Amino acid sequence: MPQGTLFIVSAPSGAGKTSLVRELIESLDGIQVSVSHTTRPRRDGEVDGVNYHFVDKAAFESLIERGEFFEHARVFDNYYGTSRRAVQALLAAGQDVILEIDWQGARQVRAQLPDAVSIFILPPSREELEHRLAGRGTDEHAVIAERMREAVSEMSHHDEYDYLVINDDFTTALRELQSLVIARRLTLERVQARHGPLLAALLSGEPGVE
Ligand code: 5GP
Repeated sequence: MPQGTLFIVSAPSGAGKTSLVRELIESLDGIQVSVSHTTRPRRDGEVDGVNYHFVDKAAFESLIERGEFFEHARVFDNYYGTSRRAVQALLAAGQDVILEIDWQGARQVRAQLPDAVSIFILPPSREELEHRLAGRGTDEHAVIAERMREAVSEMSHHDEYDYLVINDDFTTALRELQSLVIARRLTLERVQARHGPLLAALLSGEPGVE
C-alpha cells in the first residue's frame, strides 16, 4: 500500500485554521488530522481523544522520555506533542495526515521528513486579525495585545513553509487547501505507487483487440 502524505498546517490564532482543516477533512476522503497531546486545560466543548489527548505535565514528560513524540514544543504556557506511532500507522495505511502544529513543531517534522508538505494560513489583514482576536469584545485590551504579539511571532515564521494560504474568503481558502492535497496525490511518484498495474498494462506493447 502506498504511504500517505504528511501535511503540516500552521497559523496564528485567529486565522481560521481549525475550521478550515475541519472542512478540508470532511470534504475529501483519505485524509485525517492527527490528535495531539497537550497539557493545556480542556476548553468548553472539547472532547478528550477528539480535539486533543489531555494529559498532565508528568504524563507528558514521561512520553517525551520514552521517545513517543514525533515532535513536541512548548507553545505559550503549555506543552503540545504529536504521537510518532499514531502518525506512522496512519501514513502506512495510506492515509494523508494533517498536523495542526506551531512553527517549532513544523521545523522538527521537516528535519525528519523533508517530504512533508507545509502550509501556513494567514489572516487577510491586520485589522481583521485584531477583530478576530478580540472575540466577543469582553477581553481586556492587554489580553488582546498579548494575543496579537503571539500571532505576529507565529506569522514571522511564514517563510519557512512551502505554501501560503490567505483566509479572506473561507470557501476560496478551503478550495486552495483542497487543491494542495489533490495536487500532491497526482505527483508522478504517488500515481506510480497507486496505479502500477494500470501503467504496466498501458505500456505493455501487446496489441489490443480491435
Ligand atoms: P490551542 O491551545 O489554541 O489549541 O493551540 C495553540 C497552538 O498550539 C496552536 O498554534 C497549535 O497549532 C499548536 N499545537 C497544537 N497541537 C500541537 C502539537 O502537537 N505540536 C505543536 N508543536 N504545536 C501544536
